Amino acid sequence: MARILIVDDSRISRRILRNILEQGGHEIVGEAGNGKEGYEMFLELHPDLVTMDITMPVMDGLESLEHIVTADPKAKVLMITAAGQKDKMMQAIKLGCIDFVAKPFDDQMVADIVVKHTS
Ligand SMILES: [Mg+2]
Repeated sequence: MARILIVDDSRISRRILRNILEQGGHEIVGEAGNGKEGYEMFLELHPDLVTMDITMPVMDGLESLEHIVTADPKAKVLMITAAGQKDKMMQAIKLGCIDFVAKPFDDQMVADIVVKHTS
């Protein structure tokens, strides 16, 4: 079981992720609607893992990832990607994300990736 922070500007995506992760026995310690909020909540909550959307208002997922990894080089940030984001995925690897999950979500794939990185 992991303590997870969900960062996504889509309320529907957050709800889907929460359902998948809770069914996997994980605890959702917080939800943030943009990268800035996500970074602030990361500092406050110290989650075991962060799911990070890329396209968000105020601060996008790449910038938020950069702030989080700078604050805690061991942070586990799992990027949530959509079609056509290959350049951003490359940037996210350079910035230190641990892995990717593609939208639309495959429940089993999300569950497996989270277990892989938190057990
Ligand atoms: Mg988004």
